[in-house]
Amino acid sequence: MSKQDVTFPHFWAVLDALPIALLYKENTRAAVFANQAALTLFQLPAQQNVLSISQLQQLPLLNPDNKQAFDLLHNPLLLALSGTALQQLIQLNNYDNPLLLQSTSVALSFTLHSINLVTLQPKALNTEMPLQPALLPEQAEIEEALAFDKLMSLISTQLINVQDDKLDQHIEAALAAIGEFCHADRSYVFLFNADLTAMSNTHEWVRSGISSHKAKLQHIALQAMPYFFQKIQQELVFAVNDVASLPAEAAAEQQEFIAEDIQSVLCCAMLNNDKLSGFVGCDMVSRQRNWTSNDLRRMKLVGEMIANTLQNVSYRRSLQQMQQQLLQANLELQKQAGQDGLTGIANRRQFDTSLQNELQRCARNNLPLGLLLLDIDRFKLYNDHYGHQAGDDALKCIAQALDKLPRRNGELAARYGGEEFAIILPGSDTEACTEMAKQIQQQLTELAIAHQQSDIASVVTASIGIATSTPNKHSTCADFISAADKALYKAKANGRNQFIIAAQ
Ligand code: GH3
Ligand code: MG
Ligand code: MG
Repeated sequence: MSKQDVTFPHFWAVLDALPIALLYKENTRAAVFANQAALTLFQLPAQQNVLSISQLQQLPLLNPDNKQAFDLLHNPLLLALSGTALQQLIQLNNYDNPLLLQSTSVALSFTLHSINLVTLQPKALNTEMPLQPALLPEQAEIEEALAFDKLMSLISTQLINVQDDKLDQHIEAALAAIGEFCHADRSYVFLFNADLTAMSNTHEWVRSGISSHKAKLQHIALQAMPYFFQKIQQELVFAVNDVASLPAEAAAEQQEFIAEDIQSVLCCAMLNNDKLSGFVGCDMVSRQRNWTSNDLRRMKLVGEMIANTLQNVSYRRSLQQMQQQLLQANLELQKQAGQDGLTGIANRRQFDTSLQNELQRCARNNLPLGLLLLDIDRFKLYNDHYGHQAGDDALKCIAQALDKLPRRNGELAARYGGEEFAIILPGSDTEACTEMAKQIQQQLTELAIAHQQSDIASVVTASIGIATSTPNKHSTCADFISAADKALYKAKANGRNQFIIAAQ
């Protein structure tokens, strides 16, 4: 085993530098690493920091739980000798979890690298160096630190994966944690507006029995708290143990704090891309509190966590917004791709796709498929007489009327080309198609677009060819179009302004 084998090099380096003697072994390795303090303790040469198991067994070790020699062969453990500097040891463990603390010895179980850690008393030193009772009062604080780190790691995991609708809930959980751990009465998040002129209280936790001020702390001008704002901007921290002792220049702040019954206050800035975005803080209401470095560290951590989360959520929101706009634009494009530029109804491309789909659907379901091809009569004469522009208007008018006729699922009116239109009628037999053709004629009569040059009628008329049959898997769109086209040709030849049904 070499130092390079350890995944977290600084973890290794810190163990090596610890003032407690450590022997440690990964479960999968046969060799054991001794840190500098262990080498000194066992009077081993300074360079011999890797020991074999048999060398290890010669070392005078005693398990303090059962007072037996420690069975190294069956306990692939990381051994820590003596109990001093335990706190430093625990602080190493940013990763997850020294969990198990015993009273006589100290046993820490690391999941990191599958390493287990037990502090043992060396046999030789056992009587002279009992486990120091001085350690015990620190244990409460250590346990609290562990509990805080554990809770923070849980909350940060939740914040990383946070869904928008759970965001506030998780931020409030983080505030509750910081409030509890700092023994505060109230904890909160304030966010500044973009130009740093005002702030609003966005999240709050209050201990039961303590009044909430969130509702009235909205859009507060930063000018109103110049001393506070300057401190948080320049020092990124605002810590006041005793509000009564604030300097004269903080009169405005003092007045506000007193109005809220605050005795001590601690705030840490939150940054978004190195720019001040707000702060997280807590108040003491019931009593005064001298903030500790632990309070400050925890507050900073929570502030960082919340700031990162808010930043991530805002990135995610703008991404989602962009994605939505793209989707919308895409849908619009798709729609445009299937739309006829002049009349706004389905174009030839969409007609081709729909006819293909409906043909297959009708073949699968053994349903008839109807297709109507419609050609405006004497439209060249219409253009010649009324002008191309009027011709366009007439086409739009007729297209809109046709577009309103199809009702059932899959029915579609499309501009087939020029002054020709097509109507797809899935599920329609001869009778239903005839009905549709009559409706079209009725519509044209009602539109009554004057056509003086027509030898057919005084208004614009159309000829219609109808094809309907039940397709099978061999049927093609071309079959249907060709049949409808032939029928249309007949309608024209027969004198126009009529419909003809293709022979099946
Ligand atoms: P028929 O009764 O035999 O169908 O006579 P018709 O004049 O309608 O037929 P023809 O094929 O000779 O002429 C079709 C006319 O339709 C010619 C063309 O100018 C006109 N047309 C085709 N597309 C458009 C268009 O987008 N706008 C306008 N204003 N006219 C169009
Ligand atoms: Mg034509
Ligand atoms: Mg025509």
